[in-house]
Amino acid sequence: MLSKIWNWLRRFFIGRGSDHPAAPDPSIRPIPAPVSSSKTIVPLLVLPRLPGGFQFDLVDQVGEDRYYTSSPWEPDVEALRAAIVTAESWLGTAVGTPIPWEPLRQVNSERSLAEWRTEGVHAVRAEVERLLLRWTEDYVYLAFVRGLGGYAGGIGFRPGEAGFAVVGDICIEAVCGYAEPTSGSVLLGSGPWPASAWSAAGQTGAFVHEALHGFGLPHPDGWRADRQPAPDRTIMNDWWRFPTYERSDGLTNIELDAVREAIGPYAVGG
Ligand SMILES: [Zn+2]
Repeated sequence: MLSKIWNWLRRFFIGRGSDHPAAPDPSIRPIPAPVSSSKTIVPLLVLPRLPGGFQFDLVDQVGEDRYYTSSPWEPDVEALRAAIVTAESWLGTAVGTPIPWEPLRQVNSERSLAEWRTEGVHAVRAEVERLLLRWTEDYVYLAFVRGLGGYAGGIGFRPGEAGFAVVGDICIEAVCGYAEPTSGSVLLGSGPWPASAWSAAGQTGAFVHEALHGFGLPHPDGWRADRQPAPDRTIMNDWWRFPTYERSDGLTNIELDAVREAIGPYAVGG
C-alpha cells in the first residue's frame, strides 16, 4: 500500500508514467474531458484571384518556392466535406469531447494568388473579417487555399483572438484523390516523408495537425525537454500516420491536457 501511494506521489510530482502501463507518455493522467467544446472549427475553401493565363499542371517557381497546382481549380468539394467528417469524428474520439466543425464555406477571395503566397497563414484574418465572421477565441479557422502548393501552417488562439491555420494544394489534392504529380516529391521537399504523406488519410492528418496548432498545440519539441511526446505517438509530429497510432490515440496526455484546457470551461471567461 505504501509503495502504491509512493508510486502515485512520484508520478504526480515527478510526472513519470513508466509504472503505469495505461499512460502513453511521461505525463500524469490528463484532466477530464469537458462535456462540450467552447471552440468551433470553421473550415474555408479559399480560391484566390488568378492571374490571366495561369498555367495548371506545371511546376511554378516563385523565388525559392515551387508550387504545383493540378487542374481543375475548383476541387471536389464533396471529397473535402467527407474528409472533414472523418477529421471531426477522429478528433472528437481522441479528445474525448466532440469539437464541432461548421459546414465548409467556399470563398472566392479578393486577394490574388501572389498575395496569398506572400502572406500565407497571415492572410486568413483579413479574409475572415471580409466574410463578417467573428474573430474571437471561440473559433479556429482552417483555410484550404488553392494554389499554395505544399505550404501549411497554424497559429494558436490567444485571449480574445481566434486560432487559424492554412493548408495548400498538397492537402486539397490528396484529399480529393487527384493523382500524385510527378513533381510531388519536390513539393513535399526532401524531408523524410513516407508514401502515406500523399494520401487522403495522410493529408487528413495534416489538416487536423494544422487545426490543432490553432488550439495552441506545438510540435513535440515545443514542450519542456522532459515532457516531450514521442514523435510516433502524436499527430503533432507524425501526421502521416493518421488515423492509427499504435501507442496512443494520436494525442499524448500532455497534449490532451492542453486541448481540453483550450476547449473546456477552464478556458471560459479568460
Ligand atoms: Zn506543425
